[in-house]
Amino acid sequence: MADVLYFNGRFTTTDEPVLRVEDRGFQFGDALYEVFKFLDRRPVFLADHYRRLEHGMRHIEITAPFTENEFVAIVRELLDRTSFAEGIVYVQISRGEGERAHFWPENIAPTVVLYTRRFKFPDALKKERGIRVVTTADTRWQYCNVKSVNLLGNAIAKKHAQRAGADEAILLADGFVREGASSNFFAVKNGYLVTHPLDDHILPGVVRDRVIGLALASKIRVDERPLREAELFDLDEAFMTSTTQGVMPIVEIDNRVIGNSRRGEITAQLQRRFDDLERA
Ligand code: PMP
Repeated sequence: MADVLYFNGRFTTTDEPVLRVEDRGFQFGDALYEVFKFLDRRPVFLADHYRRLEHGMRHIEITAPFTENEFVAIVRELLDRTSFAEGIVYVQISRGEGERAHFWPENIAPTVVLYTRRFKFPDALKKERGIRVVTTADTRWQYCNVKSVNLLGNAIAKKHAQRAGADEAILLADGFVREGASSNFFAVKNGYLVTHPLDDHILPGVVRDRVIGLALASKIRVDERPLREAELFDLDEAFMTSTTQGVMPIVEIDNRVIGNSRRGEITAQLQRRFDDLERA
């Protein structure tokens, strides 16, 4: 069934082929995206996602095609028109459409796309059992803090994980752990958390930020520092975070068991608190 689609100022459905072949998102990967979740028709952490999108637009010099209030109104109408109450919204803003050339004209108008999608969020069993991950080299471009649609490195890493029977790839570079192919990575050791600091090597995950806040509020220490690759195999617990997976326990890394191959205590506590926060 077709999903509700917003395209450059009007509503239609995903059945309509709206994008043109010379859109710069298609030809140059010259575009940003966001994915947020909605529950009971309510967008979750929408302001956080908007802030990241705005930061990305500033970084690659796309003039915002809307104010935050206008964006919120578009999301509101999109969800009102959607027949289901839970799912995800995909947002993409490309630099725009024009005759193919590396140089873009100064007055180019951004292409704006939003659509809703049903999504099967992990159930209680999956959240308890956790996932297996494999490590692989981080081959992405330099500005991983910008949520650009250039996901080739991420997609190849993810396919590698799938072929190895795992759910996620953990990206390594220069002997350090960065993040997952589509998630942030947290280690738990001696009762405290370790996660990569915010810089251009990782995406500033919305869930990452919320989980750090929840940990600090529970007096759990958080060290934002790059974890050495060698430390990976001496962890008490590990988990990943993302909009679609929430707090997801990691029970195996490269076929080696983490903790006792079960969701750890701290992971379980943060997962519960995060789920409550999302529903609040
Ligand atoms: N890192 C990468 C590379 C991602 O693709 C994602 C998911 N968009 C995340 C981290 C997690 O970000 P968020 O918590 O905002 O979904």
